[in-house]
Amino acid sequence: MQAIATKAVTCPHCGESATISLPREEVDVKVRQSVAAFGDHTTVTCSDGHTYWVYFC
Ligand SMILES: [Zn+2]
Repeated sequence: MQAIATKAVTCPHCGESATISLPREEVDVKVRQSVAAFGDHTTVTCSDGHTYWVYFC
């Protein structure tokens, strides 16, 4: 599957940048440090082992 678009996000724990694939174009992303019960999201683990969630709005 080819990614439509990508977006740079920042780890909320250490500030390291990561690039995620977006499920569609023109979507806002919100970084959260804990899981929420709604919305499309992806999980990111930075090179320091921090896990965070990115929600698509
Ligand atoms: Zn981190």
